Amino acid sequence: MSEKNLGIIGGGQLGSMLCTAAKKLNIKTTIYCDDIDAPAQNFCDDFIFGEYNNKEKILEFINKVNVVTYEFENIPYETLNEINKIKPVLPKPSVNRLIQHRIAEKDFINKLNIRTTRYVAIEKKSDMDTLEDFLPGILKTTTLGYDGKGQYPIKKIEDINSLNIDFSKGYILEKLVKLKKEISVIITRFGNNNFDIYEPIENIHQEQILKYSKIPAEISQKILQQSKDWATQIAEELKYIGTLCVEFFIDRNENLYVNEIAPRVHNSGHLSINAYNVSQFENHVRAVCSLEKIPLKKLSNAKMINLIGNQIKPYRQNFKLNDNEFFFDYLKKEIKEKRKMGHITTLI
Ligand code: ADP
Ligand code: MG
Repeated sequence: MSEKNLGIIGGGQLGSMLCTAAKKLNIKTTIYCDDIDAPAQNFCDDFIFGEYNNKEKILEFINKVNVVTYEFENIPYETLNEINKIKPVLPKPSVNRLIQHRIAEKDFINKLNIRTTRYVAIEKKSDMDTLEDFLPGILKTTTLGYDGKGQYPIKKIEDINSLNIDFSKGYILEKLVKLKKEISVIITRFGNNNFDIYEPIENIHQEQILKYSKIPAEISQKILQQSKDWATQIAEELKYIGTLCVEFFIDRNENLYVNEIAPRVHNSGHLSINAYNVSQFENHVRAVCSLEKIPLKKLSNAKMINLIGNQIKPYRQNFKLNDNEFFFDYLKKEIKEKRKMGHITTLI
């Protein structure tokens, strides 16, 4: 293997954008995914279809690559750990194990003296009976959720009865924050105190799915600094290698909370492709492939709109873009309601 070959687990749009960034750096990519229709196969050099516990297929994958990363967090820890015995997995598997569990993740953040929403573990239905303090709240599965999947708003305890919830799964109940704003901070860490950090991004969600992102975020200097400090502290504490995103809430009293950590590139950072000299994707590839870090420069303010479900259709039909607009089609086979199909970034 004379050339570098980056293995990526997961074949969605984040995987695709990692492949495009790698190509620019002359690094080959091999995607491993359990979805035969994974859109990233349109962007990678090699595609392997297999379940995440298929040892034979995983071995075939390991043999092709020099280093392995992942584009989503819900991969069995065992799989990452086994791969890591043969080829380096970055960010390291223990980071993924911690963050894929909402309670372990929040316990970790609070130990750093960083504020999160108030939360409590729910293991059985009767645990809900004494929890008035956490209401109104949101009940979330502790693992495997994304884009609002596995989340139930709970106003009063009786709401639970009308929901058909399988309590064998493990849940967390989070107090609802009266949101003023949501922001995210993306950081790429290369090693001890060696990182690139992007300015905070302001995000608007609709039905718990990200819809708009923009820079600059309209926030106070204090929130700007605190969010960057907390993201840096989290990345350093995890000894993280690669790109990480911290999602934050700002409440109506200007308190900052960490909502969650994404141990990967993030949807809110798509605008970095056009608005910075080095995108979150390129920086991730640089960090996990041990390439040099380039000083990060912002080129423009920007806003990004996610195209969800049918919203992609008009843009696929010869839509005329202005010079400052960039359209990305994830080339997903099937349009589905609530599925992220593409995005548009506008430099402003
Ligand atoms: P996911 O893993 O699906 O991204 P999140 O926990 O980030 O899950 O929730 C998705 C969105 O739902 C958040 O970005 C926010 O808009 C809303 N949300 C989630 N938890 C809370 C909360 N405790 N208070 C207020 N809004 C919340
Ligand atoms: Mg989230």
